[in-house]
This record gives sequence, C-alpha cells and structure tokens, in this order.
Amino acid sequence: MEVKEKTDTTQCQQTLAINEHCIDIKNILIVEDQEFLLLHIQQKLSETFSINCDIAATENEAKTLLEQKNYDLIILDIYLPDSTGNFVGCLIRKNSRIILITGRDTEENRSKLVNLPIVDYIYKTDERTLINYLVESINRLQINCKTTIAICDDSKISRLKTIDILKKQNLAYIELSDGKMAHQCIIEQGIKADLLITDVHMPIMNGEDLVRLLRLEFSKNELPILAFSSSEKSSTVSQLLKLGANDFISKPINNEEFLIRLNSTLDQHRLHKDNLKLIEELKKASTTDHLTQLYNRSFFYDSFKHVFAQAKRENRTYGIMMIDIDHFKRVNDTYGHDAGDITLKTVADLIKNNQRDSDIVCRWGGEEFIILIQKTTLTQIVQFAERLRTTIANTPIVIEPKLLEFSITSSFGVAIGMDENVDNTINLADSFLYKAKKAGRNQIAFK
Ligand code: GH3
Ligand code: MG
Ligand code: MG
Repeated sequence: MEVKEKTDTTQCQQTLAINEHCIDIKNILIVEDQEFLLLHIQQKLSETFSINCDIAATENEAKTLLEQKNYDLIILDIYLPDSTGNFVGCLIRKNSRIILITGRDTEENRSKLVNLPIVDYIYKTDERTLINYLVESINRLQINCKTTIAICDDSKISRLKTIDILKKQNLAYIELSDGKMAHQCIIEQGIKADLLITDVHMPIMNGEDLVRLLRLEFSKNELPILAFSSSEKSSTVSQLLKLGANDFISKPINNEEFLIRLNSTLDQHRLHKDNLKLIEELKKASTTDHLTQLYNRSFFYDSFKHVFAQAKRENRTYGIMMIDIDHFKRVNDTYGHDAGDITLKTVADLIKNNQRDSDIVCRWGGEEFIILIQKTTLTQIVQFAERLRTTIANTPIVIEPKLLEFSITSSFGVAIGMDENVDNTINLADSFLYKAKKAGRNQIAFK
C-alpha cells in the first residue's frame, strides 16, 4: 500500500505543455563490440532516418567521441571488452538518453535494467529483431516530441516519477494536480493533450469521476486515458475500464509495464489519427478538382440534394450560373498548356474570392465553371455575374517567371429554378451561355 504525502493543491496555472527537453534526434552514438552488428545497425539507422550515426567498438573509443560531441541518443552494449563497470552510471548522471543492449537474459539482470532511468533496453536475440526494435524505438522518439501527455495526480512525488519517464521518452507533458483541475483545463480551457494519465484516488475529484466526465466529451480514440491506482480491488479496475479508461496500471508502477502500455495506447491513438487524416484526404480527393481545388461534379450533385430540400421547405428558388472562358483554346495555343492551367487556377481563385460562403462553386469541365446559389433572386444573381465578369476581364493573368501577362474574358449563362431535376435548370443556364457566346462573348445572358 502506497503512503501518500500531503495533497498538492497547485492551481490551474501551469497548463502549457512543457517540452524544453524534447529534441529532434539527429546525432546517435552506437557502441557495440561485435563489428558486423555495429556496422549493420549503423547502416540500417542511417538509411532509415536522416540522422548522423557515429560508432565505437570499445568503451574508450566511446568516451573519446563523447568528449568531442553531444549525442541525442546513445545505443550501448553493456558488456564491452574494456568495460570499467561504471560507464552506464556515468552516462545516466550526465542525463544522456540511452538504449542499452544486453546479451544476458536473466531475471536478475532484468530487474536491474527495469529501474534504470534509460529510454529502454533490448536483449541481443537475433540481429534483425534487434535492429527492427531499434528502428521502432527511434521512430517513436522522433514522433514523441510532438506528443503531449497530461498527468493528473495529487501526489507530487508520484507525478515527478512519471514525468521523469516521459522526459526520457521525449514526450511533452502537462502537470495537473487534481481531477477538477484536469477537467477544467481539458474541457473548459480546451487544453490539448494526446493522452491523459490519471491517478484514481485523488481529493476534490477522483479519477473515476474524471474519466466519466471526460468520456461525455471525448471518445477513447479522441482522448485515450491510462489510469493509475494503488487499489487492490479488481472491481476498481473493472469500473474504471467500464467508465472508459483505455488501460490501467497498478501502483507502485513497474516502469517497464507502464512504458509498454503507454506506447501501445499511443500507437492506437496515432493509428486512429492517421486513419482520420487519410479519410479526410480521400474525401477531399473525391470531391475536388485537382487543378483548381474547386468542387467537382459529383460534389455538385450531392450538395444539390440538400440545397433543394431547403429551398423546397422555404418555398424559394435556387440559382445556377454557368461560366465559360472565352477563346480559351487560344490561350493554350498562344502561351502553352501550362499558361492555360494557370489561367484556370486564376479564374477559380477570382470566383472563390467573390463567392458567398453558401455558394457551391465547381469546375464543370475544361474551362467551364458552375455555381449553385442558394436563396437568390434573378436580380441578385445577375449582379453577382456582372461583378465576376468585370473582375475576370480586369485581372491580368500573370505567368511567372517569364513575366508574361495577358487578359481574358468570360461569358455567363444564368437561370433561376425550383426544379427538383437540376439538369433542367443547368440546361437552361447553358442555353443562355450559348446565347452570350453567339452575341459576342464577355457578357451575361438570362431570361
Ligand atoms: P469559346 O469562347 O467558344 O468557349 O472557345 P474556347 O476556345 O474557350 O472553347 P473550346 O471548347 O474550343 O476549347 C476549350 C479548350 O480548353 C480546349 C481544351 O484543350 C482546353 N482545356 C480543357 N481542360 C484544360 C485544362 O485542364 N488545362 C488546359 N490548359 N486546357 C484545358
Ligand atoms: Mg470557352
Ligand atoms: Mg467550353
């Protein structure tokens, strides 16, 4: 049973993430007496990361290099031919980040290693397993410096112990001294953390209440929570997990178990974030035109369903504006296809800069654009078209770096409709566009 010191009631002042200890890993020293292994580790790490990897085969060589240079990480075989026995201790006192390699897979050796303030230790099994684990560890250290962990614990001693572990892992952290403060910072102040570690037994607001309240706002994927508890009761663990903690660690904490659970929870969180990003990218790619970044036809038809439903409810019309660049083929023929692309992008930007938030602007095809306009009248839509027509005609198309400049014009067909079949309204606008072209271009046609 852990004895707690007096409750630390620090108020919600230090809520900014502390990250001064977080570094970009650029310089690594690898110390290993088996030459083939040393060279293989160096080769694999150098080709995987854009980092400098120095090597040493003895403790003396390592010491010489360490006198000349600072290393962000030291990968060290514990048993070297010239081991003095105090090298690891000496590096730890200098606060170096260390990953130890050891060949002695005994319980006694393990219990010593587990409690050392190091990044991690690895057994020398086979070469590939060892190198893969090193790659994974360095990759994690690189990503960790952009990750913030909130630690909520009323015991300052316990908080500092956790912080020491997080610092070695290159993680940024936020210190919170009770559940209420954590709730305030995360919910009310919107302080962002990638993961919360919380004690369970705390005054003011305990860990169970904190988990319960946070889960009303954030899912397990949005804010993973690891709970620490000194309670021996298995019902406490079950209750915490049912309330929504992602995982649970018993106090006093076993550093190694804590790290493994922390890493696996962070890995899941990162995977979730990567998936969300991927889904967003796919959604964007499937709804936008690559060149102009305007919406595409498929997005137009999807949006029309919503626009029409609202227009029908409010008994309003919707507007369709078709825009076609005049003699665009000549731009391509005279200035080249790239200049044509820049022209399309410029026109797209001019439309975007003049649109209302509710307008849905799409590239219809080639040099043709369409705008779906909500809550509009024929007068308003014609005014909007006139503003676009003059803007396009008066804005020179600038092609860098040749400093080529030319002007273009565009023609407009406009129609107002209440038709559920939007193609009918589009065909009407298109027929006016054709009229504008026939009548000499650079103009707007409508009924
Ligand atoms: P009009 O005034 O009657 O509209 O004549 P126009 O030359 O603008 O129309 P036309 O339909 O004859 O030519 C359109 C040209 O647009 C032909 C095609 O090669 C070009 N085009 C279509 N898509 C792109 C594109 O993405 N980039 C470039 N650079 N050109 C494109
Ligand atoms: Mg054209
Ligand atoms: Mg055309």
